Amino acid sequence: MERKRVLILGATGSIGRQTLDVIGNYPDRLQVVGLAANRNWELLAQQAQQFAVSTVALADEQAARQLADYESQLQVYSGNEGLEQIIQATSPDLVVAAISGLAGLPPIMTALEQRCQVALANKEPLVAAGQLVTTAASRAGVQLLPIDSEISAVFQCLRGEQAESVEKILLTASGGPFADYTEVQLAEVTAEQALDHPTWQMGPKVTVDSATLMNKGFEIFETKWMFGLEFDQIEVVIHHQSIVHSLVQLCDGSVLAQLGRPDMRLPIQYALFYPNRRPNQFDRLDLVEVGSLTFAAPDPDKFPCLRLAREAGCSGQSYPTVLNAADEVAVAWFLQDKIEFMDIPRLIEQTLEEHEPFSVNNLSDVIAADQWTRDYLGQIVADRR
Ligand code: NDP
Repeated sequence: MERKRVLILGATGSIGRQTLDVIGNYPDRLQVVGLAANRNWELLAQQAQQFAVSTVALADEQAARQLADYESQLQVYSGNEGLEQIIQATSPDLVVAAISGLAGLPPIMTALEQRCQVALANKEPLVAAGQLVTTAASRAGVQLLPIDSEISAVFQCLRGEQAESVEKILLTASGGPFADYTEVQLAEVTAEQALDHPTWQMGPKVTVDSATLMNKGFEIFETKWMFGLEFDQIEVVIHHQSIVHSLVQLCDGSVLAQLGRPDMRLPIQYALFYPNRRPNQFDRLDLVEVGSLTFAAPDPDKFPCLRLAREAGCSGQSYPTVLNAADEVAVAWFLQDKIEFMDIPRLIEQTLEEHEPFSVNNLSDVIAADQWTRDYLGQIVADRR
């Protein structure tokens, strides 16, 4: 039997490493044909050796040169264009999109143009350019496969259901580490505290997004674009245990849910083998041990990012792209101790208010809105100094 040929964008990150972990369990069914990252060339070299991969890419050109010097047998593509060249060079069956941020958008578009299946963890491209990505996928006749656990849950619940039977989606949110904090406590949160998520081990950007609930706001976009729904059909419910990964309410009042231990390898494996399921040795869910499952409404005053995401989504045009870029900048500044935790929503809101929207029809429009946001926020910092 032919093995599925897989290329991983963001191989050195949390999702990338867990994807390799899953692939390692099925050497007779899955073959890694390419690995790409930003600058962690040492880990990329190890991964290439372990999975007998001969073609890699690094966006950071200096890191790419170091890797090429260190491992002369490897074909190393470099720079942002290298992320697209490696897809053309390896012709994979499936591209796992696990870069963090909007930097993942161009290679996703290349993969779709090449009619590769795309398993999507990288959510920012769907926030900033959902229409472009989904149009490119349908033009290529490619189904996007979700990796994000909540979106995978919806995807799994919808199997066999007709699109018009969906009344609404209930996305569950762990609530992050600060769900029970007062507004005064939230004002004093440090980067170290924000990076300590209670149920999921993830990269720094998405961990901070989980703490502000912007991550859940982004998942509203993912759900809208993946399943062709309206924003008002998508609700968020706080569920601290992260066992129910999301729910679908159908037009007859039935509610379907997907449950599992909080382990990203499950949705990753589902995407890698879709539409099939394969047995594995991962720990099983023990509901008696879990004991109780709780659900609550999110507090919009303590977590304004959820409201900002929804408003930007409903306003459309370039607002979602600005939302995404402002969040990328604000989270990076928070991680560098340049701003406080609650400055993240404040700066995003200010940026959205100042933005003069325009329609987003192509990649150049996305880049223009993204750049406007970075320039605007750069000016704010300069003024503060
Ligand atoms: P990490 O920060 O752990 O990893 C990011 C990966 O992307 C690394 O391989 C990094 O390379 C690479 N990368 C970053 N910037 C660039 C760039 N400009 N060009 C090329 N490669 C780049 O992130 P996660 O794995 O946690 O998250 C990845 C995506 O998946 C995000 O969009 C996140 O929201 C989403 N996601 C993550 C989940 C999780 O559990 N982690 C769950 C659901 C969704 P290098 O190591 O060299 O810097």
